Amino acid sequence: MDKHTFKGTIISIQPRIRLTRSFDEASHTYLGYAITLEGELDNTNTTFSIGIGKAAHAKHQFKVNDVISGECVPVPDPDVEPTQFYKVSKLKVISQGTIGSTSSPWELVPPELEVYRERGHRRLAARTYDTKCSSCMWGARMPVEIIIDNWNPRGRRKYRFETFCYGPLSCKLYKAGPNRKVEGRNGMVYVEEDWVDAMSVEHRGEDE
Ligand code: SF4
Repeated sequence: MDKHTFKGTIISIQPRIRLTRSFDEASHTYLGYAITLEGELDNTNTTFSIGIGKAAHAKHQFKVNDVISGECVPVPDPDVEPTQFYKVSKLKVISQGTIGSTSSPWELVPPELEVYRERGHRRLAARTYDTKCSSCMWGARMPVEIIIDNWNPRGRRKYRFETFCYGPLSCKLYKAGPNRKVEGRNGMVYVEEDWVDAMSVEHRGEDE
């Protein structure tokens, strides 16, 4: 296996989730947590991302500013993975960093994946994610697999990334961006209207 050694400071830790779309249906696969690091990969300075499982996060309670090291393997298919590397081994916490931002963007220890599932998400504009939310524990950048022909699930697929927010509805940094469109069979297009997001988070108060 093509193993790489790394050491770096966490600049982002978010849920690591894959989204599968089939016209108007969407389902999530909860893979763990996606960590972006600034540091060394095989002794070369760079910024890179690794995927870890929920057990590793439950044990170490990672957060922005912690310094960690270990070994990792490149993901075989970057279209379906939220990170560049995964299968992390020899994971060590070198030092625990100071607490990051305690308001938006929230840089605390991300909760269990079950909490994200219960909270539900709203779509988040890609530009807002890139400029304001990439270090927020409530943000997520998901690889999306689109099954074009929902009557033939083994048929043609398309791939892209979509960004989401699991955070408080009152967050001042939030911007929805355009409605998402999903290609279907025979050139049909499903437009995911605003009520889908509204329904996903309707059980939460403004500041939750
Ligand atoms: S919009 Fe969402 S992801 Fe961005 S800072 Fe606010 S809560 Fe975090």
